[in-house]
Amino acid sequence: MRAWFSRIGAGQPAQAVGQGAWVQPLGAEHATSVDLQMMEQALAQAREAGARGEVPVGAVVYITQTGQVVAQAGNTREATQRATGHAEIDALEAASRALGTWRLDACTLVVTLEPCAMCAGALVQARIGRVVFGAMDPKAGFVGSLGNVLCDERLNHRVRAIGGVRGAESGELLREFFRARRK
Ligand SMILES: [Zn+2]
Repeated sequence: MRAWFSRIGAGQPAQAVGQGAWVQPLGAEHATSVDLQMMEQALAQAREAGARGEVPVGAVVYITQTGQVVAQAGNTREATQRATGHAEIDALEAASRALGTWRLDACTLVVTLEPCAMCAGALVQARIGRVVFGAMDPKAGFVGSLGNVLCDERLNHRVRAIGGVRGAESGELLREFFRARRK
């Protein structure tokens, strides 16, 4: 656990473009000012999750064209004892309920930590339009660190993603949480 979280946010992949943002091969674009606002909200969700004793990760789903927030969530794995209680899964499910569709291609998901294999898979299944994330997760991340589920060219849906957006802050939140738990 210690080694994992001391490494979070470190070791960004080589394709660094612009202000610390890592742009996937398919996503030759930078975080927009709306993305940054949404990351602020995702960080607030992460802090709330941490205060509830959950791993502090937060996510927001918004409509890409309008900037309207559709759903937000923090991790709920401890409270609900669901292995799938990651912020991204809860945010996707809430967004689908709100919009009445599983297909979220009009939406952007913003999350404080690089999605794991499960969440990246769910994002592909939801046909999410874009993904913006914070810290890299060298131990479990599947959007660049250990693999890249979002832009595997064998899949019929590929997702544009931008990583490293306020990554230092997201990573610090996680490190602080685990430091406090070890005391
Ligand atoms: Zn996950």
